Amino acid sequence: MRSRAVLALILGLVLLVTGCGKPGKPPAQAGSPPTASATPAPEPSPTPKPKRTTPPKPKLRPLPKTLPAGLQRRSGTREVALTFDDGPDPRWTPQILDQLRAAHVTATFCLIGTQARRHPALVARIVREGHQLCNHSWRHDLNLGRRPVAQIRADLVRTNKAIRTAVPDAKISWFRQPGGRWTPEEVTVARQLGMRPLHWAVDPQDWDHPPAKTIIKRVTAAARPGSIVLMHDGGGDRRQTMAACRQLIPDLKRRYGLAPPR
Ligand SMILES: [Zn+2]
Repeated sequence: MRSRAVLALILGLVLLVTGCGKPGKPPAQAGSPPTASATPAPEPSPTPKPKRTTPPKPKLRPLPKTLPAGLQRRSGTREVALTFDDGPDPRWTPQILDQLRAAHVTATFCLIGTQARRHPALVARIVREGHQLCNHSWRHDLNLGRRPVAQIRADLVRTNKAIRTAVPDAKISWFRQPGGRWTPEEVTVARQLGMRPLHWAVDPQDWDHPPAKTIIKRVTAAARPGSIVLMHDGGGDRRQTMAACRQLIPDLKRRYGLAPPR
């Protein structure tokens, strides 16, 4: 009797121990998901996922420490050359065109490709009123000159096409790199496409929206015979530039004459 009881106890203990040690899922608890942290679902890739295998972006060429040779920085005559960048813009470009027409002078317009595509009538007016055209890249890419040569060429060609969609056979004399961040490779491409690299000598930084009187002061102080002056008729609020030009155009015309670079 006693030994039987002991046997039953031992048997029960054995069963209990085996039952506990049995591998397998613990009984599911109410309210907790079946996958407990103790038994994580097998991961398809236990190691950290490898980075996406998209081809790496082509490295940008370093920007040279000094400007490349051959940039046009003077007008080539005694006259001062006004250049207007980042248009055409439906608000500002007509205003500056009106001012130039009233003063009987011409200037150079450095056009962004996307803007030319959007406003072909303004491109046509610029040409019709005797101004020069300058390619200013497709979308104002500050790093364009540092990209692969084929990419530079495609950008410049695309921009010229947009300009010539507005004005077939338009003469595009110049190319100007956005921000003046030139590379020698880019100068070469521009020349191969029949455009000369147009830089500047006077930069009143009108893109930074200084008051008109500051723009006037800066241009007046820096202008010399043959200066190329950089200003903007697009890319932002240009009312200060427009106001400055109302004084600058007659002043510069009287002192030096105004004409596009040669
Ligand atoms: Zn620009």
